[in-house]
Amino acid sequence: MDLLRPESVEEASAALAGSAERNGAVALGGGTDLVPLLRDGIVKADTLVELVRCIPRGLHPATQPAAAGSTSVVTIGAGTTLGELEADPQIPTALREACRLSASPQLRAVGTIGGNLLQATRCWYWRLKFPCYLHGGDRCHAKEGQHREHAFFGNERCASAHPSDPAAALLALDARIRTDRRELGMAELYRLPTDEDRDVTTLEHGELILELNVPEVSSSTYLKAMDRQRWAFALVGVGAARIGSETRIALAGAAPIPWLLESPAALERATPLAGTAYKVEIARALVRRALEAL
Ligand SMILES: Cc1cc2nc3c(=O)[nH]c(=O)nc-3n(C[C@H](O)[C@H](O)[C@H](O)COP(=O)(O)OP(=O)(O)OC[C@H]3O[C@@H](n4cnc5c(N)ncnc54)[C@H](O)[C@@H]3O)c2cc1C
Ligand code: SF4
Repeated sequence: MDLLRPESVEEASAALAGSAERNGAVALGGGTDLVPLLRDGIVKADTLVELVRCIPRGLHPATQPAAAGSTSVVTIGAGTTLGELEADPQIPTALREACRLSASPQLRAVGTIGGNLLQATRCWYWRLKFPCYLHGGDRCHAKEGQHREHAFFGNERCASAHPSDPAAALLALDARIRTDRRELGMAELYRLPTDEDRDVTTLEHGELILELNVPEVSSSTYLKAMDRQRWAFALVGVGAARIGSETRIALAGAAPIPWLLESPAALERATPLAGTAYKVEIARALVRRALEAL
């Protein structure tokens, strides 16, 4: 396997675009998710394109409006680590908390925010290479038997629960993303898998996330229920933000993608599996506490 270390985004984009087949060349952030997937043969690559020298890292005043009607407060380089974000007072509370409650200090020192948004599902059927729906098969094994960690929204085809805490926080914050090809909202980054396309993101192969634009918010918070107090993926994570007169709520661990909750009442429309109804109860409690905190 080759390792390329481009010095510019243009060089990195060219290396990724030059890949003849999907997975020929793959972008490498901190490698905390990608390396295990390569090791286990789930992702195949003949070339790794290391981003550390070319992707923006750190914070600077925003260059573009974040969302209709709001003022951008900060732009975050996609190469910024979760550890850097959790400690920076310029970052809205929801994102700082989501980073602080993610993974372990060692992983947060290396894992980047760009890589975190694109991390793969933790569903063990998928990670153990069962030929399930998300791998291109025709059934979701998690829908059979008892599964306590899976989704309670958007689970018609694949019932995996999106693992990213920062993604739910950024969705609640109505952040926008700049790639090497376009600008898009957080909600537009993700899609539910379909029979035609099993991807859960809308990025094209080789498209690079460069920056995130986070708007100014009146208040925000992120709450997370885990099996342990630390170093566990979310059973349910709730990001909430007040932006002007709007209150936005987004969930981690609830659907195959970060899930925007129209209102607390929308939880009544959840479609839990036999073993995940308790997660709806947790979501109800966390949403109530998050709104109180706002
Ligand atoms: C044990 C463990 C526990 C964890 N717990 C949590 C948790 O509680 N909450 C949580 O949110 N996360 C958790 N994580 C996930 C962790 O936060 C991510 O693995 C990490 O943030 C990924 O960042 P990275 O830079 O290492 O990405 P990489 O592993 O390098 O890349 C991940 C994916 O993103 C792509 N990529 C990376 N950067 C870019 C970019 N700029 N543009 C386009 N594509 C890119 C890669 O090609 C790859 O597909 C955990 C991980 C582990 C291993
Ligand atoms: S939840 Fe998704 S990833 Fe897990 S077995 Fe079902 S289809 Fe596969």
